Amino acid sequence: MYPSRFRYEQPTTVAAAIELLSTAEDPKVLAGGQSLIPMMKLRFASPATLIDINNIAGLDYHRAESDGSYRIGALCRHADLEKSTTLAGDQPLLASAAPLVADPIVRTRGTFVGSVCHADPQGDWASCMVALDGSIVAQGPEGKRAVNVKQFVSGPFQTVLAHNELAVEAIIPVATGVRRGGYLKLERRVGDFATAGVAVALDMAGDVVNNAGIGLTGVGPSTIDASEAAAALKGSRLEPDVVAQAAELAAAASSPRSDHRGSADYKRHIISTFVTRIIANVQRAEMQAA
Ligand SMILES: Cc1cc2nc3c(=O)[nH]c(=O)nc-3n(C[C@H](O)[C@H](O)[C@H](O)COP(=O)(O)OP(=O)(O)OC[C@H]3O[C@@H](n4cnc5c(N)ncnc54)[C@H](O)[C@@H]3O)c2cc1C
Repeated sequence: MYPSRFRYEQPTTVAAAIELLSTAEDPKVLAGGQSLIPMMKLRFASPATLIDINNIAGLDYHRAESDGSYRIGALCRHADLEKSTTLAGDQPLLASAAPLVADPIVRTRGTFVGSVCHADPQGDWASCMVALDGSIVAQGPEGKRAVNVKQFVSGPFQTVLAHNELAVEAIIPVATGVRRGGYLKLERRVGDFATAGVAVALDMAGDVVNNAGIGLTGVGPSTIDASEAAAALKGSRLEPDVVAQAAELAAAASSPRSDHRGSADYKRHIISTFVTRIIANVQRAEMQAA
């Protein structure tokens, strides 16, 4: 099916994009188009005006800032993160998730920020953001505001972005120790959305967990913050009984549905197994580095 008719705008500055968002009829931002265009073709979305931000210079970055935070611009593609030679050292969770998002063609165009804005419960990046306690910077006519991802995503395919706000970047806060972590995803075939996915972020001081976060993909009506599971890890040395408890708490935090991808019990089992496996991978890497 073809999309409905729409007006097409190509602003070259953030200010011009915000002006268009404020004044154009029924506007929608187009970033990588990897979710929006399929939605338009299926007529699930029929915006009257498409505001293509791809000609705005200077939004395609991902970098560690001097203050220790990590910033990802609105036009940073999944593939930019996948191909990065520094990301694994700076943000190991993001580096392990990048090759698991969609397929190479989608990764070439789709953006990190666009994925969080799409707020698909099966989106991989939102879970990573939850685990890392990241925020999205929204810019509108009144200026900028940073919104923690746990408030930014307000429901399935819903965010708190105002109609005239552009998400300009994602911020990952400063690590409170050596940042470790990883992402695991069960998919029916390579390139598919997650049957179940787990993002674990750990900030380590030696072998002690200073801070932890766990986000779950595809096992509830929205991205899940498994905060009780993460709390169980804090202050621990990742002893086996602590890890087992966190794995069980993460599974309990999920609310999967039985469907053609597997039963709810099976998906809960996957969540628990993935938490254990990610932490074992972190510990193995630590031992090899020592
Ligand atoms: C075949 C296929 C497989 C896929 N598999 C996966 C997968 O396994 N895991 C996964 O996580 N994703 C998957 N995706 C989705 C893909 O990752 C998209 O790239 C992503 O969800 C959206 O990013 P985008 O830049 O393409 O956004 P777009 O499609 O351009 O936009 C998506 C939505 O976000 C809004 N938006 C985008 N950027 C901004 C911004 N800066 N400010 C305000 N609003 C904005 C748009 O208005 C729109 O509502 C898949 C897509 C396809 C087509």
